[in-house]
Amino acid sequence: MQSLASIKNPFSRLGLDKSLITAINEVGFQIPTPVQKQGIPAVLEGKDLLVSAETGSGKTAAFLLPALQQLIASSPITGGIAVLILCPTRELAQQIYEQCRLLSKYTTFKTGLITGGSDFKRQQFSLINENNIIIATPGRLLEHFELNTDYFQDLNLLILDEADRMLDMGFSDAVLEIARHCNRDRQTLLFSATLNHSGVIRMAEKVLNNQAVIALNTLQDGHGNITQQLVLADDHDHKLKLLAWLLLNENFDKALVFANTRLRAIELYETMRASGIRVGLLHGEMDQKDRNRVMALYRDGVVNSLIATDLAARGLDIKGINLVINFDMPRNGISYIHRIGRTGRADDQGITIALVKHTEWNLMSGIERFLNQKFIRRTIKELEGSFKGPKKVKGSGKAAGSKDKKEPPKKAAVKKVKVRERDKKNVGKRRAPRTKQDAE
Ligand code: AMP
Repeated sequence: MQSLASIKNPFSRLGLDKSLITAINEVGFQIPTPVQKQGIPAVLEGKDLLVSAETGSGKTAAFLLPALQQLIASSPITGGIAVLILCPTRELAQQIYEQCRLLSKYTTFKTGLITGGSDFKRQQFSLINENNIIIATPGRLLEHFELNTDYFQDLNLLILDEADRMLDMGFSDAVLEIARHCNRDRQTLLFSATLNHSGVIRMAEKVLNNQAVIALNTLQDGHGNITQQLVLADDHDHKLKLLAWLLLNENFDKALVFANTRLRAIELYETMRASGIRVGLLHGEMDQKDRNRVMALYRDGVVNSLIATDLAARGLDIKGINLVINFDMPRNGISYIHRIGRTGRADDQGITIALVKHTEWNLMSGIERFLNQKFIRRTIKELEGSFKGPKKVKGSGKAAGSKDKKEPPKKAAVKKVKVRERDKKNVGKRRAPRTKQDAE
């Protein structure tokens, strides 16, 4: 039977064991913060997550509690370290350690701390013996890797906390190196104050697998270096003119233009070339030789604009891309952040411009809501169109009345439910191989 305190505490509705609820009551958390409410169930479902949440949001407990819950669920634990938490500084590692100690008080799990400035030999012992959870800074952990790289072969959960800060502090390679030596079937969570950081998006592409995104901060939070604009267009032809204008008149070193399909990419390429723009084309059906040739031209600046599909641009890591144009709105928020992550490298400034016609309005406002952010409206004087947005918008930002017109037929609704049921059945099953990382 649950104790009265655990029944009353809303944390008990998040699927946490009573030993954790008792500890939560003791530390005095009464109501889960938004990142905890969304994050804890998602972690327990086994999802890889990309989460934007800042210090002060309760993010530490948002990953510690489900990490501990997973350990409880798989007890008795055989094998080595099950959870690894990487964070940028000793101080943060210490804070996470303290919170972990409090929250795991009524469990038998042991936690080790691996940071610079402490005794190396004792840490070696900590890595080899008994600990279920390791909290570490990347630099010191890599020093331990010089002796052995097998510590995390049984790892269930890798957590990268304050990933944006780790990248800013130059830990990108260290984090990737550590991730490469972790069990490939693990679950991975990436926390960052901002998703508006191209390094974070690129890291997410490398270490996460089919991740869900929990965006609690707006993209402008943190040290955002990507300005996001939106230009309304009347129709397809208007968009073509806007694109040509932008590629001819914007101030940029390298521009990357996204199209949703290969055919659209080819059309844009041909139209832009005809307008005298130095442009390249990259799509999934090009052979490797052509692809390499285009990439070299783009990298060397022989062409300063590249038209690409999502698939072709995946993992593209080229310096100096400071303009990303979405000719077509991407189909969802995750695609959007992957696209914009091609610009704003390190401390560079980047601009993204979405060309939006009336049929894409709801998609655009859905992405704004997903990102918790409004795009900056921009008008190109020379090409001002007549579409100024829907006459009436709902609280959600979508066009009022548009839903009724586009209500899907009943059959489609049934199909959707079926897919969800299938998804549910797959929860907890062994995950697909980590192909992205394998390809590295
Ligand atoms: P963090 O964002 O993890 O650095 O947490 C910031 C502070 O909020 C820490 O001092 C936590 O102890 C505290 N905290 C975390 N979750 C809760 C909660 N649900 N209710 C009250 N305080 C919390």
